[in-house]
Amino acid sequence: AGSERIAKRLARAGIASRRDAEAMIAEGRVKVNGKVLDTPAFNVSPRDRVEVDDAPLPEVERTRLFLFHKPAGVVTTTRDPEGRPTIFEVLPKGLPRLISVGRLDINTEGLLLLTNDGGLSRVLELPSTGWLRRYRVRVHGQVDQAQLDELQKGIAVDGVFYGSIEATLDRVQGANSWLTVSFREGKNREVKNVLGALGLQVTRLIRVSFGPFQLGDLPEGAVQEVKGRMLRDQL
Ligand code: URA
Repeated sequence: AGSERIAKRLARAGIASRRDAEAMIAEGRVKVNGKVLDTPAFNVSPRDRVEVDDAPLPEVERTRLFLFHKPAGVVTTTRDPEGRPTIFEVLPKGLPRLISVGRLDINTEGLLLLTNDGGLSRVLELPSTGWLRRYRVRVHGQVDQAQLDELQKGIAVDGVFYGSIEATLDRVQGANSWLTVSFREGKNREVKNVLGALGLQVTRLIRVSFGPFQLGDLPEGAVQEVKGRMLRDQL
């Protein structure tokens, strides 16, 4: 895994375009593990030592992005002062060092993006992406249309204004109601704050989409890497 054409490796390191990289190889300027390369038809792995004009290539770690189905009961942090389990303790083994794109509360489930690229994580969590964040929410008790209309208009809670919230009632299940609620901005505890302001107590909260990414049927605790066009569109 991780092996690639030498010209691609040089291009990724920002040395030259792939075509120019091939010219550099033809000129004998590229060494792999101390030996001058005489053909561009050569694959290198991350362990191979590549030099151009006798200078080692700068390290580049490629940007990786993952969808994670966060289970309830884990905190979105690397180390919790209260010693509660973190998302990093339940992630599958063998992943690169990752940071989360924003956070979900300890009891919130569902879609959380993870990346090894700090710059990307900051960009994706900006309100200016305008990305929709959609949640399936279980609340205790009945919900009436007047409450949903309140949300539609936007609502201020403790001095914070939450605008353009879409909310629909999906079904009633015994003493509970299930809603789908969507936000365009992404503020701390947005779902609990706005529903709490209407007197609705959230008993289960699942994020089902974040911008173009869907939770789909990704199993709880599992990750799925974002690749190809879906990744390139974010870079
Ligand atoms: N809104 C909340 O209240 N909690 C979350 O974790 C996410 C959105």
